[in-house]
Amino acid sequence: MVVASANPDKAAEIESILRAELDGSIELLARPAEVPEVEETGETLEENARLKAMALAVATGIPALADDTGLEVDALGGAPGVLSARYAGPHATYADNVEKLLAELRRRGAMQPAERRATFHTVAVARFPGGAELAAEGSVGGVISEAPRGSGGFGYDPVFVPDEGDGLSFGQMTPEEKHVLSHRGRAFRALARMLEGAAGESGTG
Ligand code: IMP
Repeated sequence: MVVASANPDKAAEIESILRAELDGSIELLARPAEVPEVEETGETLEENARLKAMALAVATGIPALADDTGLEVDALGGAPGVLSARYAGPHATYADNVEKLLAELRRRGAMQPAERRATFHTVAVARFPGGAELAAEGSVGGVISEAPRGSGGFGYDPVFVPDEGDGLSFGQMTPEEKHVLSHRGRAFRALARMLEGAAGESGTG
């Protein structure tokens, strides 16, 4: 299967989660550089994940895997959500987005942990060239810290403290520690189980 993500941080995570889960039963290929990036025009995570997987499956003729992820912050009415990549503008860096998120929470006076609740959501999609599709979701709840912590991970990881992570931010965890708890880990492990089930049913192994 080809991994459709054009974001190298996400592609690396998807590969590492699936390699651990599938034990080599599915060969994973990197996205071919010549396939243009897909515009995320969907209104939901599922629509965007489908657009990315579908475009790659059509362009390559190989079954494709994609995810779309959003961080929903309660005090911000669910923002940045589906716009997480572009929160601070169309060309925003990870640091710009984190800075805007912390500034918005400060502006609203949301400084207590209970006022800084957030959830990461991932929708993972496997799309086959013939049009068949499997989709799975994963999410993790946590709190947005007042300042970035740790240099691991990417995106909002340094400011996201998952409920089950002993108070560490995702940025302070090893990739393996993050994957156990993360939205993406949960979504792709569920998708892996569906792929194995589908392979079993079709008798192709
Ligand atoms: P998308 O799924 O490519 O639309 O990702 C949206 C944005 O969410 C990314 O650009 C990152 O800023 C952020 N993001 C996605 N996944 C993660 C994650 O696992 N940790 C932290 N930030 C993430």
